[in-house]
Amino acid sequence: MIEKTATELARALHSGEISSVELTKAYLNRISALNNQLNAFITICEESALEQARAADTRRAAGDSSPLLGIPLAHKDIFCTKDQITSCGSRMLHNFTAPYDAYVVERFNAAGAVMLGKTNMDEFAMGSSNETSFFGPVRNPWDTERVPGGSSGGSAAAVAADLCAMATGTDTGGSIRQPAAFCGITGFKPSYGRVSRWGMIAFASSLDQAGPLCKSAEDAALMMNVMAGPDRRDSTCAELETEDYQAGIGQGLKGLKIGLPRQHFAEGLSAEVELRIRDALAEFEKLGATVIDIDLPNNHLSVSAYYVVAPAEASANLSRYDGVRYGYRCEQPVDLEDLYKRSRSEGFGEEVKRRIMVGTYALSAGYFDAYYRKAQKIRRLIKNDFDTAFNSVDVIIGPTSPHTAFTLGSKTDPVAMYLEDIYTIAVNLAGLPGISIPAGLCGGLPAGLHIIGNDFAESRVLNVAHQFQLATDFHRQKPALKVN
Ligand code: GLN
Repeated sequence: MIEKTATELARALHSGEISSVELTKAYLNRISALNNQLNAFITICEESALEQARAADTRRAAGDSSPLLGIPLAHKDIFCTKDQITSCGSRMLHNFTAPYDAYVVERFNAAGAVMLGKTNMDEFAMGSSNETSFFGPVRNPWDTERVPGGSSGGSAAAVAADLCAMATGTDTGGSIRQPAAFCGITGFKPSYGRVSRWGMIAFASSLDQAGPLCKSAEDAALMMNVMAGPDRRDSTCAELETEDYQAGIGQGLKGLKIGLPRQHFAEGLSAEVELRIRDALAEFEKLGATVIDIDLPNNHLSVSAYYVVAPAEASANLSRYDGVRYGYRCEQPVDLEDLYKRSRSEGFGEEVKRRIMVGTYALSAGYFDAYYRKAQKIRRLIKNDFDTAFNSVDVIIGPTSPHTAFTLGSKTDPVAMYLEDIYTIAVNLAGLPGISIPAGLCGGLPAGLHIIGNDFAESRVLNVAHQFQLATDFHRQKPALKVN
C-alpha cells in the first residue's frame, strides 16, 4: 500500500480498504527501517502522527471525505511547525521550536493530512546536493553513494523510498525540481506568489516558493488544491482566486505547442539524459503536440544573476540570527560584539557564510550598481525572453538537470555546484511555474523532464505532465532498496 500515489491512497481510505492509522503505522515502520540509511528525516513525529491519524479516521467515520484526509506526508524542515523543531538544516536553529505553524502546514493540518515528520535539507536551502545540512547528507534511494539533489533532498528521497505518500519542499533556484529529477519523482514549483511564504524560513524572498514533491502530477494537483493562496499574511502572495487543479488536468494535448529551448540542449547536457528527453518529446507528438525550436538568449546569464540576487537577499534575511532573539548562542561571550561574531561563526556553515559575504559585498555602497542593479536588469531580460517565447508556444520543455545524480563528495567547487541549476534558475528569476517529472532511467538512475509554463499557468503545466503520465509509466519506476 505504501508505494501507492496519494490519489490512490485517497480512494483506498475512502472505500474503507485501509484506515489512516494502519497507513500511518506502515509508513512509520518503513521510516524506522530505512531512515538510518537515507537520513531523509531529521524529526520523526510518531506520537502526534498517530494522533492525527486517529482524528482523521474519526472525521471520515463522521462522513468527511476531504481528499487528503488521513494521508501521511512529510514537511521540509524549512516550514515552521508549532510543536516540533524547525531547524532549516542548520546548527543555528537545531533546537528551535516555532511558536506557530507555517501557512502550508496549517493548510495540510486543516485538510486532515498526517504529518510524519520533518525532512532534511541543505542548510537554509542553499545547495544542490543536500551535503550542506548540519545533520549530514541525505542519500539517494537509487544509489546510496549518490546525492539526492537539493535543497529539498530529504523530501525527495523520502517520497522516492516510500517513507511518505507525499512531501512539501521549496524552490528558490531549483530545489524542488532538481531533487525530484535525481530521485525519480514529480516535483512542482508554482508561480511566485501562488503559495504563501508565511512561516517558511526566508532564504531569498523574491525567489522562494513552496510546492509539492510527490508520486504523480495528479498528486501535485491534489496538493496544490490545499496549498495555493491567497493569504493576507504574505503581502507577495497573489490575490488571484485559486483554480481547482484537479479539475484542470483532464485535457488532451492535441494542438499543444511545445517550445524546445536551444540553450537547454547545448554543451554540458549528458547524451543519455538528452535521449530520454527526445523520447519523451516523441511521446508528446504522439499525443498530438507540436514541437518548435525556440531561444532563451539570456539563459547563460541566469546563474550569475541569481548568485548576486539570492545572496543579497539572503544576507539581509539571515541578519536576524544574532544569538540574541532565537537560535544558536555561543558560550560565554565577553561582550555584545563577541556574542554576534561567535554565534554567527559557530552557528552557520561554510556555504551559508559564503553567501552572506557575497551578498553583503554586492549590496555595499560602492558595488551596488555594478552587481545588484545589473543583476536585476538581467533578471528583466530573462523574463522578457520567456514572454517572447510564450507568444508562440504553450509550454517549454527540456531536461531538469544536465545529468543524473552525482556521487557524494564529488563536487567540491562551489561554482560547479551552482551550475547544477542551469536549466531551473531562470524560471525562478522570472517567477514562472515549472515541474520535473520522471523521463526514464540512464544507467539505473532517473532523468527528469522539465515543463515550464507562463505566469500562473499551473493548471496547464500540471495537465501536460499528467497527460504524459497517463501515457507512460516512468513515474511508476522504483528504486530497489534493501532494508538492512
Ligand atoms: N541550488 C540553488 C542554491 O544553492 C537553489 C537552492 C534552492 O532552490 N533553494 O541556491
